[in-house]
Amino acid sequence: MYASVNLVCPGCDAVSRVASARAHEATRCSRCRAELLPGASVSLDDPIRFQKHIISHDAPVLVSFWAPWCGPCRIMAEAFEEAARRLKWELRLAKVNTDRAGQIAERYQVQAIPTMILFHRGREVGRFQGSITAAGIARFAEDHLAAARGTPVAPQVLPIASPAL
Ligand SMILES: [Zn+2]
Repeated sequence: MYASVNLVCPGCDAVSRVASARAHEATRCSRCRAELLPGASVSLDDPIRFQKHIISHDAPVLVSFWAPWCGPCRIMAEAFEEAARRLKWELRLAKVNTDRAGQIAERYQVQAIPTMILFHRGREVGRFQGSITAAGIARFAEDHLAAARGTPVAPQVLPIASPAL
C-alpha cells in the first residue's frame, strides 16, 4: 500500500526515500552514505534537528530526556543503547540532553528526568517517566504503538515485533 518510507539520516539529517521492501536492509543515506538505521541512539540537542527527526522520519522515534548529572539516567543509558540495537528496524531511539536543550524539554513539558516520549510523525503517542530496562522499553513502545495501528507506517512497513529481550 505504501511503497516507500522517508528515513532521516542520523549523520547528515538528509531525508532518504526508501522502498518499504528494503527498509529492513542496511540502507544507506543517499547523500553521505551513512547507515540510515544504525542501531544506535541519535543525539538531538538542537531544536531544528530535533523537529526534523521527529516529523520527517516515518518510523516512530523514542526520545530519552536525560542529563549528565542524573544518576538514574546513567544507569539507564546502557539499556537504552541495547534497545536501540535490538529495535532498530522498528523505531529510532534518540536522546535529548536537557542541560543543552532546555527549550525542547520545556516545549514538551518534561518535568523530571529520565523521561521517555514516543513520537510518531511528530505526534506524541506515549510517555514514561523514570528508569526502565531494555525489555521495558520494547514493551512500552509496543503498547503505545498498538494504538497507532491502522495508520500507515507502523503496521505494514515497520511492524513492531516482540523481540525476546
Ligand atoms: Zn546522511
